[in-house]
Amino acid sequence: MRDQRVTQRSLQSLLLKRFGMATASYALTGLLCGVALLNDLFRAPLSTALLLVGLAMLGQLVFLALFLSRQNLRFRDPSLTEAQVLVALVWLTALLAMFAEGRGSLLVIYLLILLFGVFQLPPRVFARCAAFAFFGFAGLNLFEAYSYRLADPGLAILQVSVLAGVLAWLSLFASYVQALRQRMRQRRFALQAHQDTLRGMMRQLEDLAATDELTGLFNRRHFLRLAGHQLESLHAGRQHGLALIDLDHFKRINDVHGHAAGDRVLQTFAAVVRACLRDGDVIARYGGEEFVLLLPNTDADQFSACCERLRLAFNQAEPLGVKVDNLSLSVGMTLMNMRDDLDEALQRADQALYQAKRSGRNRCAATWEDADA
Ligand code: GH3
Ligand code: MG
Ligand code: MG
Repeated sequence: MRDQRVTQRSLQSLLLKRFGMATASYALTGLLCGVALLNDLFRAPLSTALLLVGLAMLGQLVFLALFLSRQNLRFRDPSLTEAQVLVALVWLTALLAMFAEGRGSLLVIYLLILLFGVFQLPPRVFARCAAFAFFGFAGLNLFEAYSYRLADPGLAILQVSVLAGVLAWLSLFASYVQALRQRMRQRRFALQAHQDTLRGMMRQLEDLAATDELTGLFNRRHFLRLAGHQLESLHAGRQHGLALIDLDHFKRINDVHGHAAGDRVLQTFAAVVRACLRDGDVIARYGGEEFVLLLPNTDADQFSACCERLRLAFNQAEPLGVKVDNLSLSVGMTLMNMRDDLDEALQRADQALYQAKRSGRNRCAATWEDADA
């Protein structure tokens, strides 16, 4: 929504800039009329010229009001290019009616007006505007011929022919420009699609590089990175819980039930752990049948309770398709504070795990107490 508003604002400012250029073209035409007036090429009274200038300014004010009030956004083409071009063509034809000899020189302003449409208007609309310009000018000459006011019919025929040729050429050029823009737009879309695919592949690669294939848990490398960040963001007075978890007599499971069954038990442990932990807790496969757990912002009691819950849940677990009795695990727990070193904390947890194994397995041991949980 916010992006849409930003895009709309930058579009509006671009459209206002273009509107400014169009108004500058009006001013330029007015200046040229002044030159014509000074050289007696203007055949209408000054009051008529001033009226025309006033009406043209009024027309521009209407467009300005539409842009400033953002009413232009309600139209299919918010740039209002076709309307602006058509209005300008009407003014120019009316202005040319006030010229006799100087008319040919001012024909170039038709092109100036239509140039605004070259990059914006679809070819069919552009051709419509060009036809409007042509029939306006040809109509003016025919009307003057009909009312016997045409000064030089030969010159008029030449002017109409030149205008017809140049407008036809400009229409072809406009359709070429539009085809070019279309091609560029298609290339941009294709590039965007490639970028999206690449981004998706990057994400997949990142996931693959962070995940243990068998259990779907984070791998050791990713855990060490995450735990490092967690330790850095630890505030004074707060503690993180760190535990090493080792499945008991796992070699025996492999030996008795086969390696595939062992794999199934490892996957079962991963499922149990996912069900027991909360978002923000970090669990990873540390290697073989050993796992590592980090519980952010905890204390000794909470952490012991969590590990104990996990131990009991694994006791109850039933791996699919494998009949293993007495599934159990041992846990070595420690707490980390702000000044702690991750390697040292892992060593402490390992010592606690050793204690848990030595005292009979299927238990949690901590570095902060001698008694088993
Ligand atoms: P303890 O209670 O002392 O931990 O005994 P244990 O048998 O669990 O420990 P030990 O280190 O003797 O054996 C671990 C076994 O885990 C040996 C290894 O073959 C097995 N193992 C390691 N990785 C995998 C694996 O990905 N799949 C399977 N099925 N077994 C694995
Ligand atoms: Mg083991
Ligand atoms: Mg082990």
